Amino acid sequence: MTEVSVAKEDVAATGDLVVLKSVNKHFGALHVLQDIDLTIARGEVVVVIGPSGSGKSTLCRTINRLETTDSGSISIDGKPLPDEGKELARLRADVGMVFQSFNLFAHKTVLENVMLGQIKVRKKDKKAAEERARALLDRVGVGAQAEKYPAQLSGGQQQRVAIARALAMDPKVMLFDEPTSALDPEMINEVLEVMQQLARDGMTMIVVTHEMGFARSAANRVVFMADGRIVEEAAPDQFFSNPRSDRAKDFLSKIL
Ligand code: ADP
Ligand code: MG
Repeated sequence: MTEVSVAKEDVAATGDLVVLKSVNKHFGALHVLQDIDLTIARGEVVVVIGPSGSGKSTLCRTINRLETTDSGSISIDGKPLPDEGKELARLRADVGMVFQSFNLFAHKTVLENVMLGQIKVRKKDKKAAEERARALLDRVGVGAQAEKYPAQLSGGQQQRVAIARALAMDPKVMLFDEPTSALDPEMINEVLEVMQQLARDGMTMIVVTHEMGFARSAANRVVFMADGRIVEEAAPDQFFSNPRSDRAKDFLSKIL
């Protein structure tokens, strides 16, 4: 990756979609994010890997302000993330998030789960929201489950509904935080395939995962974190065949 420094007003024009500059975050005495500089281009797929506790989830959560930061700046599509208010709600809607636990509304049907945000946040009418929800449910392969409740679906199906729900907001970028970690092994691929397709369709994605096969085949770049820092970033081929840092070598020796 070539690092190009640009003036703030030029950010949107360069195609950089998510820009973090010198982001720091503490939990009490724990310096959980240390001087994080990260730029994600439009259409880029970045896989974030690293040992447990290295700050990967916190990084994701700061990008849509589920967590505040102590210093530094984060911008989405050229606009700095505000601390609160209407502008934050709007910008946050541009960032789709899929978690390890599917977080669907249990008392709403699959279809209602995917319609809700479109109506409440994007102010669409019911008919338009339903049309879009059905199209997205078809796209992730669970169209036939639309009238069911989440508990009636398998974990893999629920996670695909969660992806459809996030996509329904027409996000500019999708964050995935270990989306397959809670799934039974036989359901992992059906979720990864949906994510692969999304990547091929040009979605900008930040994916925290231990699925190295996905990283190799879908990522444009691997970001390796340890102890709250970005220790190394490289194209997947280069990272997996020739990691530069001892931390990355050690991590890969344990998981591969
Ligand atoms: P990862 O996702 O890489 O496993 P996390 O971002 O979840 O790492 O956590 C990084 C560190 O921050 C861990 O030591 C974790 O215990 C700590 N941490 C995470 N969330 C909180 C919180 N809300 N309060 C205090 N400590 C936290
Ligand atoms: Mg985590």
